[in-house]
Amino acid sequence: MKTVSSLLDAEWCARYKRISKLNIRSSIYDVTDRCNLRCKGCFFFSSGEHEVAREEKDLGKWEKFVEKEMVRGVNLAILIGGEPTLCPDRIEAFYRRLPSFCATNGQIKVDRGRFPDLMVGISLWGDEKDEKILRGKDTFAVSSKNYAGDPNAYYLYTITPKQLGKTEKIIEKIRDVGLKVHVQLLSNDEGVDGFSWQPQELLAVRDEMDAMLDAYPQTMISSKYYHRIITSGEMLGRPFGWLECPSVTEPLDKRSPKPRKLIGFIRWASDLRAMHRCCTSETRDCRTCKDGAAHMSWVMVNKRAHMTTSEDLRNWIEVYEMFAKLYRFIPW
Ligand code: SF4
Ligand code: SF4
Repeated sequence: MKTVSSLLDAEWCARYKRISKLNIRSSIYDVTDRCNLRCKGCFFFSSGEHEVAREEKDLGKWEKFVEKEMVRGVNLAILIGGEPTLCPDRIEAFYRRLPSFCATNGQIKVDRGRFPDLMVGISLWGDEKDEKILRGKDTFAVSSKNYAGDPNAYYLYTITPKQLGKTEKIIEKIRDVGLKVHVQLLSNDEGVDGFSWQPQELLAVRDEMDAMLDAYPQTMISSKYYHRIITSGEMLGRPFGWLECPSVTEPLDKRSPKPRKLIGFIRWASDLRAMHRCCTSETRDCRTCKDGAAHMSWVMVNKRAHMTTSEDLRNWIEVYEMFAKLYRFIPW
């Protein structure tokens, strides 16, 4: 293995040093089992995760639970659901104690008086037509009004095969409401007709994402290496999947040999006792998994494998920086 300083010039060395000091220890929390939408392809409902446990209603138990998580070393709480904004008191139990991120469909605005700098990731699944097919409504019409110009919010745009050739319009819409955007790909867990990726479409969407990053570098939080990884499902010749996944709940992980993975990662159900298998669907076939965060984490935990050429290490740094920006460990 080569050294960092032998692979990088001064500018990249400085970028490397900035992120190497971060010691991100994230876990994911289902804040509630309920949602104000029912999207076709929602991993939470399609895998029955909403039925695994009854949500804890005692706020004091949430507060004690968060404190125990801090003792466990967690320094980033990723709040999902269901729809977390249905339960602001539970969000507050995290927000008052830990750096927290809230994933939301954006239909309810978080109270900025109560949560001035809570980082919010707003889900978006395409243009009005696709959103109506998959989510039953044009969510952007509401979420963009709720969050226009908010410096602590961005869109998490899940690109579907039907969005090929249309992503620029969406990115412009997001730019025009003064927000940033991160992209990932739909996994189509409920097999909606026409929404599963074909090999040619994956090649095309990679080119399209790269072109969007070139054209809108101030709006897109992304990297071309990340685009390559999520569309090919390969990193340095290794295929993504169950044997490589870094985002498996640690106490449930019986894999042998163990791959490199997120330290202490747990995805907790909303009863604060049950755990889910991983950061996404309990029942998804890992060979079909396009989860953006899992792919990003896969790169991040494999630094050593990227220390062979300057290009590989720079790619690794860009993906790490992207993650750190999305969860506000470093500025945009
Ligand atoms: S908004 Fe999110 S949690 Fe709610 S149904 Fe859609 S994907 Fe699932
Ligand atoms: S579904 Fe995706 S995130 Fe979950 S274990 Fe499989 S590869 Fe990992």
